[in-house]
Amino acid sequence: MPTITIAGVDVDTRHWIGGQRVASAETFDDISPIDGSLLGRVSRGGRAEADAAVAAAKAAFPAWARLTPLARAEILHRVADNIEAHIEELSQIETHDNGSLLRSHRRGVMPRVVMNLRYFADYAVEKLTHPVFETRGHDNHVTWDPSGVAVIITPWNAPLMLATWRIGPALASGDTVVLKPPEWAPLTASYFAQLAHEAGLPAGVFNVVQGYGAEAGAPLTENPDVARICFTGSVPTAKVIARAAAENLIPCSFELGGKSPTVILDDADLDLAVDLAVEQYDNAGQVCLAGTRLLVQEGIADAFTARFIERVAQIRQGDPRDEETQIGPNIHLKHIERVQGFVDRARSAGATIAYGGEVNADLGTHYFRPTLIRDASPESEILTQEVFGPVLTMQTFGTDEEGLVLANGTEFGLAACVVSGNRERAEAFTQFLVAGTIWVNCFFVRDLSAPFGGSKKSGIGREGGVWSFDFYADVKNTVYAPSGWK
Ligand code: NAD
Repeated sequence: MPTITIAGVDVDTRHWIGGQRVASAETFDDISPIDGSLLGRVSRGGRAEADAAVAAAKAAFPAWARLTPLARAEILHRVADNIEAHIEELSQIETHDNGSLLRSHRRGVMPRVVMNLRYFADYAVEKLTHPVFETRGHDNHVTWDPSGVAVIITPWNAPLMLATWRIGPALASGDTVVLKPPEWAPLTASYFAQLAHEAGLPAGVFNVVQGYGAEAGAPLTENPDVARICFTGSVPTAKVIARAAAENLIPCSFELGGKSPTVILDDADLDLAVDLAVEQYDNAGQVCLAGTRLLVQEGIADAFTARFIERVAQIRQGDPRDEETQIGPNIHLKHIERVQGFVDRARSAGATIAYGGEVNADLGTHYFRPTLIRDASPESEILTQEVFGPVLTMQTFGTDEEGLVLANGTEFGLAACVVSGNRERAEAFTQFLVAGTIWVNCFFVRDLSAPFGGSKKSGIGREGGVWSFDFYADVKNTVYAPSGWK
């Protein structure tokens, strides 16, 4: 049996299709970013495996769709129970696979994975109201019906969290699922399949196809038997998927990249501003929501910069399994090359590297130093494109209006963070900010009931609460006439 063993847990690295492990002739290497070592090999799927997984999900759909929401919720809670009982194992696997902090997985991410299942299971039972209203004497009954096979494609920066935030509402809606996990962090998806199976999730209701995007992901998006595609990842991949989905008119939910601003107004509490700015380095900058553009109002810029750089110098970078570590490694050497390329080109174009700017060689090959770039020219790529590493830029502005123009000045609109001591001023500022989520004097506070998604190139659609059901379910209106009854 092809397995990868992490912290004493054997993870079967074959696909999970129709309630069975399925191997491919070919495999791909899974490398740990902690030390660049080979964890092992994972089945490398293609069109045959993708088609088999969609067929299995399609076959399982009628029975799953006809269960009551309560019956589905009972099964999903059992799956959640089993996940909860294995938080330590899942945390270890994810940390070794994608390099995120072990303590964050134990205390934050994996408990959230459990919540992703419980919350949407309960929502479908308790909160998904089915409005009935009368029009010209006729009764309209609105229902959220299951829609079919949902394909879920996820990136490597928070694989199981991002997957279950879709698996929860999709399964609670009565859809069946095919998950394509990221090739740089494929393992928790495989282990999740095992845990869900042990908890009684019927065969075919949830399937996993491992492999590269163009080989295993693309055929999933081209399959006419798919009813929904939920994609989280980069803008270029979203464009490819949108074209494929258009062929069969498959509705897509896209959660994409960002270049979000952290705006610090001159009445801000400086301690809070520095804390929030430092938080943007979390997960070694590999957070779609990160407010990587620090926009600081003139007047406090010098004071802020001095304190900020002092704090950045104190960030503890190191092994993500260590309780004291604040920033771990970056995912892959290819990705680090990309991050280094952005920094080098910014330097060549005349920007100042105020801190960091390279890999921390004392820690090996995968640990890019927290980096701050100043004085970049307004149109330069470092101020407009997503780096997805521990690289922040800093710009200053005069009036609030000028700050707003800078904040809205990219093609992205995923999130924004605003720091101000004056509520009315903050409200005036946020009113014209274009972003799916704005945090004022806080960062990363995310409730499952809140709408989440991106504006402009950061995405299409919203998920969370009822918005998730609006996407995964097929909203139906049945009109009953007042007459014709015996
Ligand atoms: P990516 O677009 O390269 O890959 C994402 C997933 O898509 C992977 O599983 C990959 O295998 C698959 N894929 C690639 N090509 C495909 C194709 N042609 N057809 C189908 N699937 C394909 O992104 P990445 O580098 O893995 O992730 C980083 C990106 O994800 C960043 O842009 C980041 O901002 C974004 N992200 C967004 C959110 C959000 O909620 N908005 C959350 C996390 C990450």
